[in-house]
Parts: sequence; structure tokens; C-alpha cells
Amino acid sequence: MNKRKHKGHRKSEKKPNRLKKQNIKPNSSRNQADGKPKGKQKTVTAEVTCSGLTNEGKGIVEWEGKRLEVAHLMPGEKAEVIVSKRGRYVNAELKRVIKPSKDRITPPCEYYYACGGCQLQHMNEQAQTRFKQETVDALMEPFIKPEAILTMDDSYDYRNKSHTTFGLNKERQVIGGLYAQNTHQIIPMERCLIHDPKADEIVQTIKGMLKSSKMQPYNEDTGQGFLRHVLVKVGKGSGEIMVVLVVASPVFKGKNNFVKALRKAHPEITTLLMNINNRDTSMILGDQEKVLFGKGTITDTLCGLKFEISAKSFYQINPVQTEKLYGKAIEMAELTGKETVVDAYCGIGTISLIASRKAGKVIGVELNKDAVRDAIRNSKRNGVKNARFYQGDAGEFMVQMAARGEKADVVIMDPPRSGSDEAFLSSVVKLQPKRVVYVSCNPETQARDMKYLVKNGYKVEGVQPVDMFPQTHHVEAVAKLVLKEAGNR
Ligand code: SAH
Repeated sequence: MNKRKHKGHRKSEKKPNRLKKQNIKPNSSRNQADGKPKGKQKTVTAEVTCSGLTNEGKGIVEWEGKRLEVAHLMPGEKAEVIVSKRGRYVNAELKRVIKPSKDRITPPCEYYYACGGCQLQHMNEQAQTRFKQETVDALMEPFIKPEAILTMDDSYDYRNKSHTTFGLNKERQVIGGLYAQNTHQIIPMERCLIHDPKADEIVQTIKGMLKSSKMQPYNEDTGQGFLRHVLVKVGKGSGEIMVVLVVASPVFKGKNNFVKALRKAHPEITTLLMNINNRDTSMILGDQEKVLFGKGTITDTLCGLKFEISAKSFYQINPVQTEKLYGKAIEMAELTGKETVVDAYCGIGTISLIASRKAGKVIGVELNKDAVRDAIRNSKRNGVKNARFYQGDAGEFMVQMAARGEKADVVIMDPPRSGSDEAFLSSVVKLQPKRVVYVSCNPETQARDMKYLVKNGYKVEGVQPVDMFPQTHHVEAVAKLVLKEAGNR
């Protein structure tokens, strides 16, 4: 699992008073980045007008014939920006909004401008929806006009997974929070408004316990200390809660007392794990895991099925919207009970098992071992007899399937943000499934891969965007591609 990726770049901590008044802090974006900055830095203040948004939700402005990106600026707004030039690098930061958009709001989160985990809190919901719709519409423009995005009614508190990093501040007090954008600097945070509130409560308790115990937070620079991160997973449907203490060493002094005190404070925790990560890495979780109490996994309900989830396996972070997304994916698969379905990049088998109820058989393939183990357990737990799961690279698996001359009627694919690869896509083309349902959390790579399929005999019949990640620039989309009849290509 990767650390939360923060886009942009933050350096300037001194901010003009006017920004404070408007609840706007400067946030720089690097433009024209190609190598290291050279030469002396020149800084000027410029007045600009925002003409649109990038796919990351940053405002696009023109300055001295250059296209610059300014975080937290909205279309139509006139603003003063601080432009810094060093060699070929040009950064633009918002200094002051002169003419605000009618869709601008005060971000509810006090850490918004420093954190960077959310990028759209300064926009009202209509503006966020419009931005996401337009982003997907533009990317899908070569293929089809997408449906209206499926939005979320309560667009905060939705994340069922949170991770918090621990450390010491300059006064050597224990702090816990998220990293500031593109840095390893912890922003002390008691509440993240998109996290499940219970998860944050538990983390606060752990922070308090750290203060009163001998346990020290880990220091990335010196390699000293013990507690690195706390990962919390909440089964929103089941109420089960997993807490994972990511620690730097297997020797947990005072373990029994710690576990006892935490359980007493939060009887709702159903399992507690310790994950040992003693490497100098930006990965949150290490390989070694030890269950401190409970079964080491949580179970959640989704689309009427029960799913067991481990610390390391992927599970969609917004279950309310996931049900809408999966519902749409299954509808697009047009299953009649006879089909052989491949669910590629299947994670813990969620889509596979939902599809199995309407398919002849389902073949799930997934790289992560723990996720595959969960998928197999999940099929047993739900009494599913027509699904098989394989561990491996989805591309290689499909190449082998094609080489063996096997058949698939429907391929459902849900790759990570980087999208699929040519091995996978070319095997889809060889296997000739009648329908391909492509679920993606990154419509840019989705559109790239769809282009390949369209070039090779497929036609796009529908695209449904879903807002799985309100307040952030991320957007999910599911696309239906059908094989053109042989004479019709
Ligand atoms: N469909 C699942 C998981 C989607 S996330 C769900 O909705 O829950 C993407 C998944 O792809 C992750 O579980 C990740 O472990 C897996 N993955 C990443 N690269 C892969 C590869 N090359 N081959 C197979 N699976 C891969």
C-alpha cells in the first residue's frame, strides 16, 4: 500500500495576512518541470484570470504566454498569484482572490490548505460535480457522451480506511496526522473530515496512550522509536473495526497493558494487529504481521454479500458509492446465468462474487496474495461454488488463457490507477469476449486503454462516472465495451 499521494508542493510557510483572512494559504504548483531548478529564483506578483481546471482540479491561468496551474483557484475567478521563476521552472501560488466564483465556499476542514489530501473543499457540491463530470466527459469524448455522474448525499465521513502517521514535534510532543503534500512533514490533525469519525476517535486515544506510556513514536531520520503509523479499517455495514499498529520493531514493550487499555477504551475494536515495518520505505505496511487479538480480519457486508478483509488487501474505501458502482458494472455485464466471466484485478473478489450470482462461472485473478486468500475465503463464506481465484499478474494470466484457447464471454477489469498493460489488452482482443466492463479510478488511463480496445474491434456503449471520493479530485468511471460483429468492424 502506498502512502497517500499528495499532489503539488508546499514550501512557503509565511503567508500574507490577507490570505489568512480569506482562509486561503498559498499553495504552489510546479509548472514546466523537467529536471532540477537552476539559477536564481525571481518572484513576482501577477493578476490573472482562471480559464478552466486541470484534471487535478487546479486553476488554469495564462501568464506571459505561459499556461500555469494554480491550486485552489476556480474558473472565472480573478486573482493575485505569486509567480516564482527559477531557470525553466515556474511556480504559481494563489495569494488573493480578487473576484471569487459564486461556487466558492470556505473549506470546512481547518487543515485543508496545508494537507493536500483533499483538493476541492473550496468548491461547493455543484462545482465539484460539474468538474468531475466535465473531466470524464472530456476524456471520453472520442468514444461516447457519459451518463450523469452518480453523486453522494453525505459527502464527508465516508472513508472506511484511515492511516495516521506518528512522530514528535519540535517540542518533543507526540503528534499524529497526515503528511503535508509531497513531504514527510506530519501535520498534527485530530480529525480528518472524510475519515470515519470512529476511526479518528480511536487514533486520538492511541495518541493519548502514547503520551502516558513509554512507547515512543518512530523518527524517520534517526530510525529510533517504535510506533510509525496506525491503520484503521471500519466495516461500515458490519460495525467491525480493525486497528493495525505499524511498528518499527517486533519487540513491543508493555504490550499486554497497552492492548488491555485500548480494548477498555474502545470495546468496538474487533481485531488488533501489529505490523512490523523496519525498512526505510514510503510503504506503510511491512511484510510481518502479528494478531494481538481477534481474528486478524474484519468482515463487511456489501451488495448483500459478506466480505472478509485483511490488513493488506484492497477494499473500496467508500462502500455507499461502491454499491452504486458495482450495480452499474453488473448491469453492463448483461449476465444471463450462462456466461464465463473473467474478473481481472479482482482484489478480495467483491465483483467476482456479486457477478457469480448471475453468471455460469467466474474466474478471478489478482496479484496480492492476501487478497486472493480473502477472495477464496469469501467465496466459501457466501456459499459460492462457481468462482475460482488465481494469484498472479492479470496480463500474464490472460496471455496464458489466450494461448490455451480458453473462452470468456465477459471480461470485467478494475486495474490500479496506472491502468492495464498491452499484454492484458492484447489477450482480451485474442479472447474476444462479447463484452468488456472496465472499472477505473483513473479515467485518464482508462481512456488510453479503451482506445486500444476500440482500435481492435470494440465499441463503447456506455460510460458511467461515479463520485467515489468527494472533496478530492479523484473520480471513478465504469465503461461498457462490446465486440463489434465480424462483418461490422
Ligand atoms: N476489483 C477490486 C479491486 C480493485 S483495485 C475491488 O473493487 O475491490 C485493483 C487491484 O488490482 C488491487 O487489488 C491490486 O492488488 C491488483 N493488482 C495490481 N496490479 C495487478 C496486476 N498486475 N495483476 C493483477 N492484479 C493486480
